[in-house]
Amino acid sequence: MLKPGPRPGPESGVPSMVQVPASDGDEAWMRLALEEARRAASGGDVPVGAVVVRDGAVIGRGHNRREQDHDPTAHAEIIAIREAAAAVGAWRLTGSTLYVTIEPCPMCAGALVLARIDRLVYGAADPKTGAAGSLYNIVQDERLNHRLAVTAGVLESECRELIRSFFRQRRQPKT
Ligand SMILES: [Zn+2]
Repeated sequence: MLKPGPRPGPESGVPSMVQVPASDGDEAWMRLALEEARRAASGGDVPVGAVVVRDGAVIGRGHNRREQDHDPTAHAEIIAIREAAAAVGAWRLTGSTLYVTIEPCPMCAGALVLARIDRLVYGAADPKTGAAGSLYNIVQDERLNHRLAVTAGVLESECRELIRSFFRQRRQPKT
């Protein structure tokens, strides 16, 4: 008989999350990520947005385009990382910070590690698929060859509310 799996937490092997405090400017960059998220919603996609910042400038931005592109991997972070890498002409994004409105999923957390991004800042946690402290902590796993500094909860309520209102509107019966 199948039994429910262990609950996530330190006892189940999910590394605990170590956070760095928010720094000046984090909210302003997160507002740009929120702008991106709103673009996703206007295309019928769940509103998640991301920007990659290096040396005080945005070098990549992206929003969720799964529905629009018929692409299960078209998450905001992946698109922003691709754009940033193309902009700098290198796959290695050392010295960059990625801002995203919702905690990254396992795929995107993996991409952040692969891209050698220094820091991850996210708005709202995602208890269903989050891989930066909720279900997994891929971005700070000692077994991998790169780890990120993480700051969670920047403009958390705005990021969460954007998602909530999107689903509220979708549930409304069309007349
Ligand atoms: Zn993702």
